[in-house]
Amino acid sequence: MVHLCPVCNGLIALHEECPYCVGPLDDSGRLYDYYEKYSPYREIDDAKLSNGVSDALHHHCLHLGWCTQCNREHVLAVEEWDEAALFFYADK
Ligand SMILES: [Zn+2]
Ligand SMILES: [Zn+2]
Repeated sequence: MVHLCPVCNGLIALHEECPYCVGPLDDSGRLYDYYEKYSPYREIDDAKLSNGVSDALHHHCLHLGWCTQCNREHVLAVEEWDEAALFFYADK
């Protein structure tokens, strides 16, 4: 069974609201890419995080959303699509 993130694959845009001000969040990319790029010294924390979330959030892709009003980022779990969801999308 194929599971892929529709946001990473450019099928849909990230539409999430900031939990604090309910403003729209900008997509600042995948969480793991972000840590690789900007936080080379966070390896231990990162490993802990990825272990914890991979169990809890199976078939979810973690993205970072940035709120321009609060000036803070939020971790967003995007549900990955399976073949049925992809077929439905392609059929529209
Ligand atoms: Zn993704
Ligand atoms: Zn906000």
